[in-house]
Amino acid sequence: MANKYGEVFDVVVIGSGFAGLAAAIEARAAGASTIILEKTKGRGGNSIISEGFIAAAGSVFQKKQSIIDSPECMASDMKKAGLDLNHPDLVRTVTENSSSAIDWTIEEIGVTYLDQVVQLGGHSRPRTLIVKSRSNVCCGAVLVRKMLSKALDMGIEIRTQAYVQTIVREAGGPVTGVTIREAQSSLQIEPGIVKTIGCRKGVVLASGGFASDVRFRTILNPLLDSSVETTNRPGATAELLTEAIRIGAMPIHLSAIQLGPWASPDEKGLNVGSNFASMAVFPHGIVVDPRTGERLLNELGDRKVRADAMLAADHICIGFVDAKGASFVDHFLPRCLSNGVVTPFDTLAELAHHYKIPANKLKRTVTAFNDYLKNGKDVEFGRPIRENEIILEQPPFYAIRLWPKIHYTSGGVQIDTHARVIGLDQQPIEGFFAAGEITGGIHGACRLGSCAISDCLVFGRIAGQQAALRLEIKSLES
Ligand SMILES: Cc1cc2nc3c(=O)[nH]c(=O)nc-3n(C[C@H](O)[C@H](O)[C@H](O)COP(=O)(O)OP(=O)(O)OC[C@H]3O[C@@H](n4cnc5c(N)ncnc54)[C@H](O)[C@@H]3O)c2cc1C
Repeated sequence: MANKYGEVFDVVVIGSGFAGLAAAIEARAAGASTIILEKTKGRGGNSIISEGFIAAAGSVFQKKQSIIDSPECMASDMKKAGLDLNHPDLVRTVTENSSSAIDWTIEEIGVTYLDQVVQLGGHSRPRTLIVKSRSNVCCGAVLVRKMLSKALDMGIEIRTQAYVQTIVREAGGPVTGVTIREAQSSLQIEPGIVKTIGCRKGVVLASGGFASDVRFRTILNPLLDSSVETTNRPGATAELLTEAIRIGAMPIHLSAIQLGPWASPDEKGLNVGSNFASMAVFPHGIVVDPRTGERLLNELGDRKVRADAMLAADHICIGFVDAKGASFVDHFLPRCLSNGVVTPFDTLAELAHHYKIPANKLKRTVTAFNDYLKNGKDVEFGRPIRENEIILEQPPFYAIRLWPKIHYTSGGVQIDTHARVIGLDQQPIEGFFAAGEITGGIHGACRLGSCAISDCLVFGRIAGQQAALRLEIKSLES
């Protein structure tokens, strides 16, 4: 019996980010021979440049700080931001397994977290953990590197410059393998040697989102052309999404493309300035329209609420925080200042002068905002007022210019709670699993910050376990 594939593994994982690594580690742990195929020279996809914010409901860190939370509450927050387009069973799967995913990263992967539980926009309580790095700057790379070394220790091959061009599905039947091009550059295109790789149990598609695919995203939303910057790496393109659709996968929510409101035009992609905005300005400061000196938005609203308000203003906005609010980012504030992405001011008048904001109006705005904090009600934007809010008054004031960048693509292939890819006939496609940003239906219209990594870890683990469990595909060697 001639084998129709050049090489065969039990499980073939496409993509070396959080979702692919989690899938491969679990598949290998269950005894499956496993390979990861990665088209770029480097590993880690967008995951390796992520900030390492991870949301979890009921984590040990919340318990230590007596924060009351539950998977239901996290699911309700995700669905509110997602405008209820989220598939409830998928959301529940993420939230119910989010805390055990954190335990897994600690116990199996060896990650440690900062001793802080942060409340990001759209979350109704603090539940976001931050992966600890040596520099204490937000850092998903630490988790990716530890997952990579775990995968290698377990004997998983990670083949880079292996551009997957087709996913092989037998007519109306199972997925049995892939064809790859051995790309010479990091981004395919030029012809390379074509090879075939079969799977005895399954293919896990974990090839990420498509925020850098200008052609594809412009078809979905003509406003998101090349003039709009992205935080993503160049490899975040749509070829495997269209390939999965070609072999019968059901696409959902493809137009739900998210812009990050904390992005700054004064740094490339997402860097320390965005971290400063996420961790200091939005939770403890305000964002104003420089033309009017007035607040623009609920700073604790979800990303869509905030980005839409800024886009409606139609020009760069100014976010700022006082010295007490900035103390939450003490560990990387000096980097923000030396990069020039954040500017300090001794008085509000100086800040107003610098950004050409009407000074009197800005003063009135700050006074009104402080009154809302004191009275427990934001009558303008309904920002939730928490206990021990910081009154915006203590100089120096630290300011950043803000303008949204394309950050995340919520749409993708439909999966079920076992991470099986669902076909156009609404039946699982045999031997085909998916996890991470390539999937759709979990986040709906708008993803909450820190829920992507939870999603990748939860569904990546499920995809790897389910693929490894599956009976071998008999037709492989006929
Ligand atoms: C700058 C930044 C910061 C972020 N910070 C956070 C955060 O703190 N918290 C959070 O929850 N979310 C965050 N996100 C979102 C989150 O990081 C991503 O959604 C997540 O990392 C995606 O993981 P993934 O495994 O699905 O895909 P990726 O990590 O993107 O990996 C997919 C891999 O598949 C490869 N691939 C694609 N096509 C092919 C092909 N044809 N053949 C072979 N390989 C292919 C890609 O090269 C890539 O390496 C951030 C995103 C960005 C861009």
